[in-house]
Amino acid sequence: MPTPLEALHTTFGYSEFRGRQRDVIDRVMAGRHTLAVMPTGAGKSLTYQIPALCRPGAGLVISPLIALMHDQVRSAEAAGIRAATLTSADDNREETIARFIGGDLDLLYVAPERASTDGFRRMVDRVTLSLIAIDEAHCVSEWGHDFRPDYRLLRGLVDAHPEIPRLALTATADSHTRADILAQLGIPEDGLILAGFDRPNIRYGISPRDGLPKQLAALVAETAGPGIVYAQSREATERLAATLAQSGRPTRAYHAGLDPSVRAANQRAFVGSEDMVMVATIAFGMGIDKPDVRFVAHAGLPKSIEAYYQETGRAGRDGDPAAAHLFWGAEDFSRARRRIETETPEDRRPGERQRLNALAALVEAPGCRRAILLRHFGETPPPACGNCDNCLAPPSAVDATEIARKLLSAAFRTEMRFGVTHLADVLAGRETEKIRSLGHHRLSVFGIADDAEQRLIRPVARALLARDALRADEFGGLSFGPSARPILKGEEEVPLVLPPKRERRRRDRDRQSWPDDPLFDALRARRRDLAREQGVPPYVIFHDATLREMAALRPVTLGGLGQVSGVGARKLDEYGEAFLEVLRDHA
Ligand SMILES: [Zn+2]
Repeated sequence: MPTPLEALHTTFGYSEFRGRQRDVIDRVMAGRHTLAVMPTGAGKSLTYQIPALCRPGAGLVISPLIALMHDQVRSAEAAGIRAATLTSADDNREETIARFIGGDLDLLYVAPERASTDGFRRMVDRVTLSLIAIDEAHCVSEWGHDFRPDYRLLRGLVDAHPEIPRLALTATADSHTRADILAQLGIPEDGLILAGFDRPNIRYGISPRDGLPKQLAALVAETAGPGIVYAQSREATERLAATLAQSGRPTRAYHAGLDPSVRAANQRAFVGSEDMVMVATIAFGMGIDKPDVRFVAHAGLPKSIEAYYQETGRAGRDGDPAAAHLFWGAEDFSRARRRIETETPEDRRPGERQRLNALAALVEAPGCRRAILLRHFGETPPPACGNCDNCLAPPSAVDATEIARKLLSAAFRTEMRFGVTHLADVLAGRETEKIRSLGHHRLSVFGIADDAEQRLIRPVARALLARDALRADEFGGLSFGPSARPILKGEEEVPLVLPPKRERRRRDRDRQSWPDDPLFDALRARRRDLAREQGVPPYVIFHDATLREMAALRPVTLGGLGQVSGVGARKLDEYGEAFLEVLRDHA
């Protein structure tokens, strides 16, 4: 049996572990039960793949999504690991069972509902297990955001094999959920390994919606590689996909209303693509193992900071630079607040309001976005990250308390029935027909905003809606929310963030992009050909980072190529000559 470091080198082609991988692997190797909370992209799967190669027996991996299991098996097999899935979608189940029992598998992936059946447990009794890995372990907890009762039944399986190390894995779990996972799966408290939440290669950006199709088109044009745009409704996914397709970039839509065969085809096309834009509802991405997603855009407000973190986390899992951009509007907050006050059970409202206020603080922040996210997860990050919109191009902040008070007064004086356009007319002193007929030109607030203040009315209205000082009814009429009083009474200030001009941002982005490199392009072309021949996505062959290192080191022998990060023994065997040919051509 190889040591973990030998397996890392030989099978995966890396010379050292990242982050806390080593700590997790050491525990599993020592036969101890462990809960690893690691952000997406931290190399979670390596923490069970390596012990499965280094301990006697087969590793059992419980995973909730069939499509994801198939992706993972494909990547594992490409690295030379003997892996298989046992699911209702597989027609080679007999063969897989024979391999499992015959000791011919390093890893067997199954869904929780199968793993908890008596038949499966009887079969497992006949096999030597190296470990039991439970992926997406937050599903075991009712505190988690994705509770699945099937996960509770796993306790019987793991307890029947107390001596086999169990490894629970999740990317998102707050302290409640973590405690619950430990209790539900019988893992001791000292078995918790918490990796940081930071995803340093993701550049966060947040801006108000202001002509969304144009804003999205600009983002797509600036960002090469595959990307996901999250839209808020089925209808919006199709509309935005049609608009973005005009850019010439391959674009598809994905939502629950599509025919299953169309949905599956679109997903397959995206996974195999190097430049496709997928416009989708948030369900998309959950079961997809695609490490080279270069951007994730939100066309509207996500549900919570947790959801935002999880959805943006689908970008840049290969560690290369990636972007996450959120476009939000005041109406997102209005709609969400209306839903809380009318559709949410009373006992859940305080929690929901808190969730929304946390999002408001994020989108309206003048400071580092990453710092806000990490603080939300209980970390103490440095005040600036240098890789978010506010760090790269600090917005100007103005004190908008005075104009905020004037706007609130105008809403109050006009009986809280009018939208921002009318209130702006009143404050600017415009004698429109509507104003005269309502007698609003005789109000004390008529014409009290000067030119500079008038320019701030819309951004201020947005900020007041976000922080629940104003609420909009379904016709846009603005009335007071609970945060209005403290502002009117002079107890609270309203700082306002004004985003910098676009030109500056674009220049900043350009600095980040990779320089053109003909050798890198040629290596990518070779990878594309091989991927097509073998019917696998390009990243299964090599990640971009590996190709980039090849282009920098320019090895011309198999030995030299084997030194490149990400080139393991099996891949060197299978693809080495094909890539050497390209490298020699450019020598
Ligand atoms: Zn920052």
